[in-house]
Amino acid sequence: MSEPSVPIRITCPECQGCISLEIEPHAGIPTYRCQIGHGYSIKEMIKGKEVQVENSLWTTVGLYEHLEMLYEKLLNEQIEATTLGEEDIECIRRRLKNITELRQNLFRVTEKNTPPPLNDGD
Ligand SMILES: [Zn+2]
Repeated sequence: MSEPSVPIRITCPECQGCISLEIEPHAGIPTYRCQIGHGYSIKEMIKGKEVQVENSLWTTVGLYEHLEMLYEKLLNEQIEATTLGEEDIECIRRRLKNITELRQNLFRVTEKNTPPPLNDGD
């Protein structure tokens, strides 16, 4: 029979489901378990969250690149077609510059994101 579990405000690294903290009745080792059964030690939870952070940072860098390409394409296509007003074009240019700076800054942040090694075998 399992001990009652305590819900916590951290989601599962694999499925984003709600996590509860369970204490193994015999070993007394806390296990983080989601609603569908993924189970983690605290080190595994940290590693899972570190992977999520890494993936999120690179995903955002990629999204900024996509936006840069699309805004540049819009400017190049629409300037010739003159369907955008001067104010619109200026707003797009400012946003493009802003996105480029954000992407470059985030790229540097992502390269500095270095989690510590956590050895297995608690
Ligand atoms: Zn899960």
